[in-house]
Amino acid sequence: MKFCSRCGETVSQRIPEGDTKPRYVCDVCDRIHYQNPRIIAGCLPIHEDKVLLCKRAINPRAGMWTIPAGFMENNETISQGALRETAEEANANVEILDLYTVFSLPHISQVYMFFRARLTDLNYTAGDETIEARLFDESEIPWDELAFPVITQTLEYYFADRKIDSFPVRTLDIVYESR
Ligand SMILES: [Zn+2]
Repeated sequence: MKFCSRCGETVSQRIPEGDTKPRYVCDVCDRIHYQNPRIIAGCLPIHEDKVLLCKRAINPRAGMWTIPAGFMENNETISQGALRETAEEANANVEILDLYTVFSLPHISQVYMFFRARLTDLNYTAGDETIEARLFDESEIPWDELAFPVITQTLEYYFADRKIDSFPVRTLDIVYESR
């Protein structure tokens, strides 16, 4: 951040009085610009023994497979965000079952929250940010072409949990050492 979104003047990084962390503070109007983690909401759409994956048309990881997910918008609930992303990326109609995986990625200040969801029809198609949307059974999953570690982890949990038909919420911190 270089400029204050309130007055347009320059900002500096400093620790405000009474605070413990450096923040962007306006040099003129003293507005403190807090920055907080972003939440990514998504669905794991399921039909019988298959899951719906989307081949990404956009970067990052264009051409790789993901489940429909994206940044939450203001003024929506986490499940509304997951449903909206599922509609946008795969034009898929789903019924949310339960929250399933929660990942914290502190090195990039992101939190992922994925729901298990049931496809209510098979009228899905590729959305604007998707090259192709298709159902995969476990043996067909393109493990080497998955877009993000959180996708791989969610699918690993799912196919393991499905064998015992029990789907507890899985919470995992994915921490990378900073170099
Ligand atoms: Zn300002």
